[in-house]
Amino acid sequence: MAKSVPEYFGVNVFNDKVMKERLQKDTYDELKKRIEEARPLDIALANKVAEAMKDWALEKGATHFTHWFQPLSGVTAEKHDSFIEPTADGVIMDFSGKALVKGEPDASSFPSGGLRATFEARGYTAWDPTSYAFVKDGSLHIPTAFCSYGGESLDKKTPLLRSMQLIEKQALRIVKLFGNNDVKKVTSTVGPEQEYFLIDKSVYEKRQDLINCGRTLFGARPPKGQELDDHYFGSIKKRVAEYMKDLDEELWKLGIYSKTKHNEVAPAQHELAPIFTFTNLAVDHNQLTMDVMKSVAYKHGLVCLLHEKPFEKVNGSGKHNNWSLSTDTGINLLEPGDTPYDNAQFLLFLLAVVKAVDKHQDLIRISVASAGNDHRLGANEAPPAIVSVFLGEELQEILDAIENKTDYKGKKNTEFEIGVDFLPQFPKDKTDRNRTSPIAFTGNKFEFRMVGSSFSVAEPNTVLNTIVAETLDEFASILEKADDFKEQLNKLIVKTIKEHKRIIFNGNNYSSEWVIEAGERGLLNLPSTVDALPYYILQKNIDLFGKYHILSKNEILSRYEIQLESYSKTINIEALTAIDMTNQEIIPSIIEYKGKIAKEVKNLRLVNPQFNCGMEEKILFKLSKLSASLYEKLTNLTVYVKNAENIDDIYNRAKYFREFVLTEMNSLREVADEIELTVGKKYWNFPTYADILYSVKY
Ligand code: ADP
Ligand code: MG
Repeated sequence: MAKSVPEYFGVNVFNDKVMKERLQKDTYDELKKRIEEARPLDIALANKVAEAMKDWALEKGATHFTHWFQPLSGVTAEKHDSFIEPTADGVIMDFSGKALVKGEPDASSFPSGGLRATFEARGYTAWDPTSYAFVKDGSLHIPTAFCSYGGESLDKKTPLLRSMQLIEKQALRIVKLFGNNDVKKVTSTVGPEQEYFLIDKSVYEKRQDLINCGRTLFGARPPKGQELDDHYFGSIKKRVAEYMKDLDEELWKLGIYSKTKHNEVAPAQHELAPIFTFTNLAVDHNQLTMDVMKSVAYKHGLVCLLHEKPFEKVNGSGKHNNWSLSTDTGINLLEPGDTPYDNAQFLLFLLAVVKAVDKHQDLIRISVASAGNDHRLGANEAPPAIVSVFLGEELQEILDAIENKTDYKGKKNTEFEIGVDFLPQFPKDKTDRNRTSPIAFTGNKFEFRMVGSSFSVAEPNTVLNTIVAETLDEFASILEKADDFKEQLNKLIVKTIKEHKRIIFNGNNYSSEWVIEAGERGLLNLPSTVDALPYYILQKNIDLFGKYHILSKNEILSRYEIQLESYSKTINIEALTAIDMTNQEIIPSIIEYKGKIAKEVKNLRLVNPQFNCGMEEKILFKLSKLSASLYEKLTNLTVYVKNAENIDDIYNRAKYFREFVLTEMNSLREVADEIELTVGKKYWNFPTYADILYSVKY
C-alpha cells in the first residue's frame, strides 16, 4: 500500500469527517443534534443522509447495503440488498432514508427465546447512528439494533445502549456532587484485548472437530507444549507477521484502533489489542475485528480459531475487557486525580465497582457463561469461576486505613482523611500485576478477564454498566440528601468498605486455598454455565434490569432460554462429532494398525516359529484392551445423546448434557488419546496436536 496509515485510516468508514464533508451544514448539524439527544431521524433528514451515504459507498465500490446487527446467537448478522432500482431504460442506484433507518430482515430463524412468538411475528432493525456505517466486502454496512414489533430487544446491542445511557445519568449525578459542573457527558469506555490461534488451513481441513466445533475433541499431549514459555512475547514468525500486517491494514481502513500485537503463551496463540474507545463502538469494532481476523487468515492459507479452548493441555483464549468511565472533559473517573477532592471522587467510583461486583457476582459470571468458556475458567490459565476484585497492595492499605481509622503508610499517626489527603499515584507497572484475578484494577481501569475469546463484549459491558450504575444511583441518593457532604461521604465510604470487602482478593486466584477461603467468605462458585444460569432469573435480577429498563422480565427469560439452549446444542454437536470421528476415523485406524501387527506376527512365525514376538503381542494386547474400553464409552455416549432428545425441560436438558454427555465425551477422549499415542503415526487418520500447533512453521 502506497498510502501512509494516517491517509488510509478509516477510509472505509462514513465517519464524522466524511459526514461533515458530504452533508450540507444544516443537515449535518441536525443529524449531530439528533444523535446527541438520541432522538430518531425524521424521513426528510434520513433521505438526505441516505443519499450522501450511498454516493460515498458507490465511490468505494459498494453495490449493496446491509443492516448489520448482533442477534442473540452472539455473531453478527447481515442480509444484503443491492442499491439497484429499475427504471424505464435500465437501473439506477437508489437508497432511501426509509431503508437506512429501518430494515425488516426475515428474522424468524434468529434465536428469540419465544419472544417473537409471544408478541409479534416479525422483528425489525433500526440504525444506531452512534456507530458509523462502513463499507466492507462491497456492501455498505449500517450498524443497527434489532427489536421485535412488540418493542422487545432481540439483540445484544439494544440493552448495551440502554445501559450506557443509564450509567451516564448516574455517574453525572456523582460528578456534580463533587462540583464538577463542567462535565456534560460520561461514557463508559472499553478496550478489549483479543486472543486467538492461527493454524494452517491444511491441518484444519482434516479435523472434523475443528470444523464443526471450533475446538479439538481428541488429541494426545504434544511432546512439546507451552512449558518452556518460549512462545510468549517471542519473535513472530514471518508468515504470522505478514498476516498481522494485513490484518492491521484492514482494521485501520475500518477505523479500528488496532494497537498491539504479540505472541501469547500457547504455541500458535497470539493477541491483538486496540486502543480503547466508547463502549458501543468498542463492541462493534470487536465484532468486526473477529470477522476480519478470520477472513484475512483465509487469504493467507491460515485459519483463525476464536474458540475459548481449541486445545486441551495448552492455554485457551480469552478477551480481557478493560473498562472505565470517561467524561467529555477528558477525565478518566477511575484515575486518582490531582486534588484531594478528585481523589475522594475516584475512591467513590472505585468502591461503586467493588460493591456492584460483590452484589452481583452472579450476573458477572453469567455474562461470560458458555460451553466454550467453561473449559477455560478455573483451569489455571484463566480466572476461576469465583468472581472477585483485585485492587493491589497500595489501594488495599489505603482502604484498610480508612476503614480502621489507622495509620496510613508514609503518614505516621495521621489517619487518611477522604477529601483532605492526597492519594498516591498508583503504579501502572505490569510486573506487579495480579494476572490471576477475574476483575483487576490496573491503575486507571478495571480489567475484566473472564470474558471468552469468542464472546461479544456487549453482554459483559451491559452488566458492568448496569450494576455499577445501580450503586452510583444509591450513592448519589444518599449524598444528595446529606447536610454535611464530607461527613456523609466518609461514612458512606467506610460503610461500603466494611460491607463489601469480602469481594476483594489480592492473592493467587488459581490456588486451591482460594476456593476454600472464597467459600468461607460466602462468595459464589459457579463452575459451569448450567450452575450459573439459574441465577439469571432470580427476582433480584429481574428487579434490577426492570427498574432501569435495561431488560424486561420477558427479555431476561428469553435470554436465559437461549443461553441454555445454545449450551445444549453446542454439546450435542460436539458429542455427535466425537461419535463420528470415533466410528469413522479412530476405529479404522486401530483396526488397520492391529491388522498390520497381527499379519506381521503371523509372517514372522512362518519364517521361524521361535521368533520372539513379545513386543508385537503386548501392543496388540494393549490396543485390544483400549479398543474395548473405547467402544464401551462410544456406546454409552451414543445412548446418552439419544436420551437427551427425550428431555423437554430446557434446564434439565442442559444439565443432562453437562453431567452425562460431556462427562462421557471426556472419558471417551481419554481412551482415544492413549490409543493415539500407541498407534503408528501413519495409521492415525487425522493431524495430531503437534501437527496442528506447529503447522505454521516459519
Ligand atoms: P496492558 O494491560 O497490556 O498493560 P494497557 O494498560 O495499555 O495494556 O491496556 C490494555 C487495554 O486497555 C488496551 O486495549 C487499552 O486501550 C485499554 N485501556 C486503557 N485505558 C483504558 C480506559 N480508560 N478505558 C478502557 N480501556 C482502557
Ligand atoms: Mg491486559
